[in-house]
Amino acid sequence: MNLNYTTTRTDNEQMTSSQAILKGLGNDGGLYLPLTIPKLSLDEIGSFIKLSYNEKAMSILGKFLTDFTESELKHCIDNAYNERTFTSPLITPLHLIDDKSAVLELYHGPTSAFKDVALQILPFLLTTSARKNGDNRTYVILVATSGDTGKAALEGFRDVPNTKILVFYPNDGVSQVQKLQMVTQLGDNVKVVAVEGNFDDTQNGVKELFNNISLNNELNENNFTFSSANSINWGRLVPQIVYYFESYAQLIKRNKIKLGDEINFTVPTGNFGNILAGYYAREMGLPIKKLICAANANDVLKDFINTGTYNRNRNFMKTLSPSMDILISSNLERLLYLLSDGDKSLITKLMSDLNNIGSYKVAPELLSKIQAVFYSDSADDLETVNTIKELYENIDYLVDTHTAVAYKVYKKYVSKTNDSTFNVIVSTASPYKFNGAVAEAIIPDYSNLDDMEQLQAIHKTTGVPIPEGLNGLEKKNIRFNDVISKEDMEIVLRDYLKL
Ligand SMILES: *Cc1c(COP(=O)(O)O)cnc(C)c1O
Repeated sequence: MNLNYTTTRTDNEQMTSSQAILKGLGNDGGLYLPLTIPKLSLDEIGSFIKLSYNEKAMSILGKFLTDFTESELKHCIDNAYNERTFTSPLITPLHLIDDKSAVLELYHGPTSAFKDVALQILPFLLTTSARKNGDNRTYVILVATSGDTGKAALEGFRDVPNTKILVFYPNDGVSQVQKLQMVTQLGDNVKVVAVEGNFDDTQNGVKELFNNISLNNELNENNFTFSSANSINWGRLVPQIVYYFESYAQLIKRNKIKLGDEINFTVPTGNFGNILAGYYAREMGLPIKKLICAANANDVLKDFINTGTYNRNRNFMKTLSPSMDILISSNLERLLYLLSDGDKSLITKLMSDLNNIGSYKVAPELLSKIQAVFYSDSADDLETVNTIKELYENIDYLVDTHTAVAYKVYKKYVSKTNDSTFNVIVSTASPYKFNGAVAEAIIPDYSNLDDMEQLQAIHKTTGVPIPEGLNGLEKKNIRFNDVISKEDMEIVLRDYLKL
């Protein structure tokens, strides 16, 4: 048995990778991670240029998920990444901008956001882990969503055996496109319900269900168990490491860099999962010089990386890049663990400060380790819209709001540092997913149009195809109409599970 996973906090229990995926979160509240990070030689990284995305995923995931057999891994990877799920044969294609930069497009999955890369494979990692550990219960995935995660989780778990998924969204808290994407979801093991109130109400309701002991016992008696699809699960983080290697291989293939050259990545960051996967790739040996953490007006990470003080006591801003509207970046905990050489008592102290007083400060030595790799800056909504407009007008390339934040921060980084290292801007959503701001940037009379009309107008103006999952949404059959009050969430769950 490869008991090579532990948590970031006090618990010293060690477990296998499949057990870490099944548990999701440690009993001590800590996050699971492997005790050591596997290393790749430059030759191995070079040999990746001959491999498909799935072959690279086999190699990289195999080094982390050490208790999975080859055929188990292949089952997970091939079910997640194929021509039915992703519209690009490269899975994550690279769009070259100029001699110094390119955009890594992570949004060619079924729901047009980067979360598909992880949520297409997580259901298979989870059900395979259950089988390996002799667990034949049905996993009930409960999700509270403010948008992207709900739809990506629904698509990922749709018709996956031994799973059922129930998504709650705030009735007034998601866009028309996001709502239509969810209420038209296909699959026999899915349910979607609107909850009156805001996202916090919905999320608190889901947390109460998760923590309801008698409900959990009743679930167990009926061969069910709760699980979550959120980004603290190791099974969501590890698949994201692959595309950092994929983009490096594509740059070599297209003669933009030579094997061994260092590159930078700029990542639009919310919960710190995507950029942390980049850090893992760097630790494995991928030649990455800087990881540039791009924030919007919720710039808690920018302040942390520049000063060493993490402080969530500030106003929460609603921005045009809502998937980055986050004040607690959960995955930062894993980075702090890695850079403090696994100092569990330090991490426990920092996280309890964050919980109790809303802030913590790291010592200068730890801060300088962070700054040796990470750089951070932010872009506001005006800069976001202007960047979408400029990129479209100057180079005929259409990006979404999150990608625009990253692009603007990359430009600020270059003008501050004069660093001419090749830079990959990580693109996390299709421009059609955040149609309001994209229409504002490029369509003169956008405000007279409703959401679905904006999609058509953007298409007419730019010629960029509307992703299949978003096209004609208004004509699809609506399967889920229920709007409930928060108090009725448990009734809905019981009814769904026939308890
Ligand atoms: C989730 C998300 C992000 C933030 O990614 P993290 O891994 O949470 O940092 C950025 N952009 C989009 C479009 C997203 O959906």
